[in-house]
Amino acid sequence: MNRRTFTKSLALGITAAGLGKVPAIARKPATQFSITMDDFHWQNPVKLSALERNQSILNAFQSHSIKAALFVVGGNIEAPEGKQLLSAWDKAGHMLGNHTYSHRNYNASATVVAEYQQDILRAEALLKDFPRFRKYFRFPLLKEGDTLAKRDAMRTFLSQHGYRNGHVTIDNSDWAIDNRLTARLKKDPAADVKPYRDFYMEHMWARAEYYDSLAQRVLGRPVKHTVLVHFNLLNGLFLNDLIAMFKSKGWEPVDAEEAFADPLFSASPKVVPAGESIVWSLAKEKGTIAKSLRYPAEDGEYENARMNKLGL
Ligand SMILES: [Zn+2]
Repeated sequence: MNRRTFTKSLALGITAAGLGKVPAIARKPATQFSITMDDFHWQNPVKLSALERNQSILNAFQSHSIKAALFVVGGNIEAPEGKQLLSAWDKAGHMLGNHTYSHRNYNASATVVAEYQQDILRAEALLKDFPRFRKYFRFPLLKEGDTLAKRDAMRTFLSQHGYRNGHVTIDNSDWAIDNRLTARLKKDPAADVKPYRDFYMEHMWARAEYYDSLAQRVLGRPVKHTVLVHFNLLNGLFLNDLIAMFKSKGWEPVDAEEAFADPLFSASPKVVPAGESIVWSLAKEKGTIAKSLRYPAEDGEYENARMNKLGL
């Protein structure tokens, strides 16, 4: 049931009650989620060619009637092949955002703020002519600054250039599972991929439930989620299953651009180090919840023991 039919049945329920009939049972509105994909690293084809991976991911969105957001590393669209692959996203109506040119870690101590800002503008120059480009910026590794001065320098820079932060709400380690899957298939192209799929679904649902309940605790209301995933083989194979799983749990897909309209994404939590999921960051800002949080919020390290146990 989507939000519209929910409201409608609720209204009907009230009318029926007014007529002395049995009121419709008011159900909780569905949790809403969107898919936001990062990096666009297409130059490492394993099992699927770059074109096949691209097509498979776009087909998954199309079959669920979802418009996603793709945060592009500018360096990946210098070559004509990269531009062409990206055009397919643009034509399909997905939003394109900026993810820097060279994917540096802003929290690294060696980072020079002015160079990092140039890296963003360099990516923008490559993206700006795509009609579906929007001024949303996503920090690589979700690292928004390890000092107050660095954090605020970027907040000022982004707002001066008309950018909004393309925050993630549901962070996870899909990339770590993809690393294992890719390594296995390079060694044994006929390896069974189902165990990787199963672990991916389990992991994503665990992270989704965690961040959704954290959002409820921090904000006291449902939010429109932006689920982070990466442009990799794992999603080339299983993105369709991932979206289907969320739907089977009663979650409702929405377009990424619609999700980003949630007021949640305008927040600028005053925490250092800044970044991670926006939900995590807001929780960190709230002293009472902060103690229960780990840092980094997500990392392959947390998943390795279980992946080892499963032989992935
Ligand atoms: Zn990235």
